[in-house]
Amino acid sequence: MQVAPGVYAIRAVSSTAYLIGGVELTLVDTGGPGSARRILSWIRRLEHSPRDLTRVLLTHVDLDHVGALPAMLEATGARVMAHPDALRRIRGGEVPRGERGLSSTWAALRHLFAPVRPLAVGEPIADGAVLPVLGGLEAIWTGGHSPDHVVYFLAQPRLLFSGDLLQVGRGHLQAVPGAAPADRTQTVAALRRLAGLDPLVVLAGHGPPYRDNIALRLVRLAEILEE
Ligand SMILES: [Zn+2]
Repeated sequence: MQVAPGVYAIRAVSSTAYLIGGVELTLVDTGGPGSARRILSWIRRLEHSPRDLTRVLLTHVDLDHVGALPAMLEATGARVMAHPDALRRIRGGEVPRGERGLSSTWAALRHLFAPVRPLAVGEPIADGAVLPVLGGLEAIWTGGHSPDHVVYFLAQPRLLFSGDLLQVGRGHLQAVPGAAPADRTQTVAALRRLAGLDPLVVLAGHGPPYRDNIALRLVRLAEILEE
């Protein structure tokens, strides 16, 4: 589904992945294991070849967001960009949070990140880094949901790829902090920072696009968490 010019929401296995067009394609998250076919078929539907996908940006290393990463890297040769902690976990072969039984996909990923492959496979992304994607896509470290959590903000037309910091359920925008007290504090800070960007659309890892009074809602969610 096209959600904005050049931006497509792909219903992957267990979460939503986002494909951003242009001469080169960028993917935000990969969905759970088994999602690669759906993503590749979207790439072809847009009259691109898998090799046109040059970047995979990760919001965080939960299995429902990175499960198809090995297959996507294999099919496209794209490079992965993520929070340094996320890359450390991937390179260390740590099984992603979520479903620890599903380790065979992860074993394949470990293989891809093995020392024989140069670090070019994974590049740490700095807080505030702006990537040359559709006029500028900013990476914003948020933590909150998990220590390695990053969201991405497309300045034109103010789209926020929120990963699991925010989700949309039953028509409502919700914050999804992790269990630790620090997660809550980080979530509050992130919500206030993101409110300052005045997003027009939130594209979450779970749930449909959300377009309703976002800045106000983010501030309210921060207040609720602080109560
Ligand atoms: Zn998720």
